[in-house]
Amino acid sequence: MAPTLIVKCTKCGGYMLSAKDQKTKICPYCGTNVNLHKAQRVAAANTAFEASEMLRKLKSERGFNR
Ligand SMILES: [Zn+2]
Repeated sequence: MAPTLIVKCTKCGGYMLSAKDQKTKICPYCGTNVNLHKAQRVAAANTAFEASEMLRKLKSERGFNR
């Protein structure tokens, strides 16, 4: 199973989830089509559930209430 990555938007710095083989992704916060090869990979998780848990933790650490 392909791991799920947590990447940081190159424009607004928001965190989002992406599949490992995905090349681009629309940022849910600013709508930018993010090139996932250029975006910073914050973390990787083995399952989508694990990834969403990590994402939630990252957001709470930043005080990001969305
Ligand atoms: Zn963004």
